[in-house]
Amino acid sequence: MEKELLEIICCPDDKEDLKLKKDKLECKKCKRIFDIRNGVPVLLPKYLD
Ligand SMILES: [Zn+2]
Repeated sequence: MEKELLEIICCPDDKEDLKLKKDKLECKKCKRIFDIRNGVPVLLPKYLD
């Protein structure tokens, strides 16, 4: 995954930074896990889950 992209994106719930964990992204604050599908992180707010 692009490192630049990781610096731009953030958690849709609390706007905190995300960190790469294996093939997924984890919010540093709420620990929510976000899937990466076809190289694109799926960042949906909780109410759309
Ligand atoms: Zn979060």
